[in-house]
Amino acid sequence: MNLHEYQSKELLAKHGVRIPKGSVVLEAVEAEEVVHRLDGPVWVVKAQIHAGGRGKAGGVKVVKSAADAVQAVTDILGMTLVTPQTGAAGKEVSRVYVEQGVDIDRELYLSVLVDRASKRVTVMASTEGGMDIEDVAAKTPEKILRVIIDPATGMLPFHARALAFGLGLKGAQVRAGTKLMLAAYAAFIACDASLVEINPMAVSGEDVIAVDAKINIDDNGLFRQQE
Ligand code: ADP
Ligand code: MG
Repeated sequence: MNLHEYQSKELLAKHGVRIPKGSVVLEAVEAEEVVHRLDGPVWVVKAQIHAGGRGKAGGVKVVKSAADAVQAVTDILGMTLVTPQTGAAGKEVSRVYVEQGVDIDRELYLSVLVDRASKRVTVMASTEGGMDIEDVAAKTPEKILRVIIDPATGMLPFHARALAFGLGLKGAQVRAGTKLMLAAYAAFIACDASLVEINPMAVSGEDVIAVDAKINIDDNGLFRQQE
């Protein structure tokens, strides 16, 4: 079962992942109240569809005022987005997420998934955030870091620190990145997920924040995942 970005972020936040503040809107007028409630000066309006690649297809818009947010929601709601992940028919947008803009210094990649070859949960990270990981794997596989997790111990702080250093995080960013990665792993386990993907995982000053998020729940676990 696929979750929307905003649902994935809500779950990740419960486990301690830093996310921008945001709200779902079903009608354009609602965007005004959201923008006034969240600190600016920049907000991002994002189509909620079960596919990535929204940015390049016009489904992610940066706005600088409440009026522009209302306009962006008007433009995006009802739009049929065609991205490399939707197929040619595209997907119609019925929900839009309005969130705080993050001042991004670097875009990194993080995922937790089941690696069929090693039959273990694997944490993957890369300095090439914001790009499709399939492209990175095809063109620059050396830029993908992997940690295979022993189910008896789970993900440990040293695993996360190794990834943080491999990603070039410095000073306070190491603690922030380590916390985010351990929290993403905890969410993966608690939700019976088959995938948690944070792309980009953004470095912003001393912070490390999930700017995009995708969770797939393993259908075999749904009976104990009522929420
Ligand atoms: P998709 O992967 O579907 O294209 P993302 O959520 O990854 O959608 O957004 C695409 C890009 O837009 C990100 O890589 C990032 O550069 C920018 N972006 C998205 N949300 C924010 C935000 N809240 N603040 C700043 N930039 C953002
Ligand atoms: Mg993304």
